[in-house]
Amino acid sequence: MHKKQIQKVLRVCRAMQIKVLSDKSIPEDGLSDYSSRTIELDKDLPPDVHLVTLLHELGHFVYDSCSPKLKLTVLDSIYIKERSTLAEKLIRLKCERAAWKNAKMLAKFIGVELPASFNEIKKAALKTHE
Ligand SMILES: [Zn+2]
Repeated sequence: MHKKQIQKVLRVCRAMQIKVLSDKSIPEDGLSDYSSRTIELDKDLPPDVHLVTLLHELGHFVYDSCSPKLKLTVLDSIYIKERSTLAEKLIRLKCERAAWKNAKMLAKFIGVELPASFNEIKKAALKTHE
């Protein structure tokens, strides 16, 4: 069931010329690189987490409350958690919340049924950015 939903999201990624890689172990569930238009997902995610994380990462690519300039800053330094100031942390959280909001909106728009675990996965992911 999740496989079919994942295919739907992947089609949208392809249409947006975003590459999706999921063949490697990475330190987070998912990562987005705007400059290379690449989404990377950890290879060992359970199907529901895979689907939700893919939607979330795609959510980073669509318009959110972060300006393009901020997005670049986010890539350059804000996502290096150890080095970020409180202000950067707040911006990062704002971007994360926006991406989650977009994930939900995208699912509705694409016609993807969200798994029952969506909110749980979202909560756990947001915790890693606190
Ligand atoms: Zn994110």
